[in-house]
Amino acid sequence: MALPLPPILQREDPEDVPEVLSASRLAALPPEAAPPRAAAWLGRASSAEAGREDGSLAPDGALLRPDTLRLRDGHHRAMTDLRLSVTDRCNYRCVYCRTGSEGAQFTELPIAHYLRMLRIFVSLGVEKVRLTGGEPLLRHGLLDLIREVARLRPAFSSAPLDIAITSNGHLLAGMAEDLKRAGLSRITVSMDAVDPEIFSRITRIPNSFERVRDGIRAAQRAGLGPVKVNCVLLRGFNDSQIEAFAEFSRREQVIVRFIEFMPLEEGRTWSPDTVVPMREIISRLNAVRPLVALPPNHASETARRFTFDDGVGEIGIIAPVSEPFCGECSRVRITSDGKLRTCLFSQSDHDLIGLMLRGGTDDEIVNWIRRIVGHKEARHHIGEPGFLKPSRSMVHIGG
Ligand code: SAM
Repeated sequence: MALPLPPILQREDPEDVPEVLSASRLAALPPEAAPPRAAAWLGRASSAEAGREDGSLAPDGALLRPDTLRLRDGHHRAMTDLRLSVTDRCNYRCVYCRTGSEGAQFTELPIAHYLRMLRIFVSLGVEKVRLTGGEPLLRHGLLDLIREVARLRPAFSSAPLDIAITSNGHLLAGMAEDLKRAGLSRITVSMDAVDPEIFSRITRIPNSFERVRDGIRAAQRAGLGPVKVNCVLLRGFNDSQIEAFAEFSRREQVIVRFIEFMPLEEGRTWSPDTVVPMREIISRLNAVRPLVALPPNHASETARRFTFDDGVGEIGIIAPVSEPFCGECSRVRITSDGKLRTCLFSQSDHDLIGLMLRGGTDDEIVNWIRRIVGHKEARHHIGEPGFLKPSRSMVHIGG
């Protein structure tokens, strides 16, 4: 007998939904029809064997799911990268991100709810989980979440699940070793100046530069390196820091990544003139020392990578405004209050937690996710006539 679908599932067209091989359907198959060790598919994964139709074995003997079952959007892009915001709270009020007068606006879910969502997404092909916020290091239960996530195995790849955090680094010095022990693979620290005064002006927190720098060093010592240091450049504000960041990368052995400012702020700071475009960053860095291009690490890499002519230091430039990379997008996002977003610039979000709390089974949730992701936006429209700011700002989505 068919189970009644939760209302949200009834609203949409069932024709859109690709067939899903779920645990319950596998269990219902007669033994001779079931793929060998099929139960292992829910929670195993890989990309090395991507393209195989029949599933294959990982080196440890676990069965990988066939690539045809991967979660893909309507443009045939596989969703391998999930960003989960674990809190809407932040202990910094960076001037380009927040107004300074508003606090958290959205709730947090119990860790077990995030875990269930992550488990389902990993069974659909997510290979990289990034925990973010707000400020994720503020979240009670974060280490427990990482420990549990570290037990998941990609379903289509024999590589281990990649678990990363994006943090402002303020609490990192005291947490780096515990994060590593819990199973974190790596960390990205946001740092928008290496001049302590400029840094404090941005974060609105005194002595914050020293805290964050010490956090980066602690993360390197704990084995979370090479740490990536993200700097959002705003013209006339911190673009004086480009050359100093090149030195910082070389001295501290971190990967510095310059990011173009996007219209995702709480206030109204963004204009095309505030964006420092990639070509300008490259030409300024080239004047420090000649840059040498590095190959991308993978197809959906967002950063153009460079080192200097002596091989010391690494710079990435992420240019979503001047050189958009939406064509390779492999990302979906879950907000701290459990809403699914298919693009940073989505005009609405989708009520994943609502479906879960109404008693949606894993199968129903998988089908719902496939339907929503099937309509993922092709690209953003920054700078085009009629561009609308998204329904949430960066801090309330999770960057
Ligand atoms: N609190 C954590 C942190 O500071 O990294 C995680 C959340 S923060 C919103 C994530 C990243 O988004 C930071 O690197 C921040 O610089 C970046 N960000 C915020 N607003 C942005 C914007 N309008 N354009 C580009 N990046 C932005």
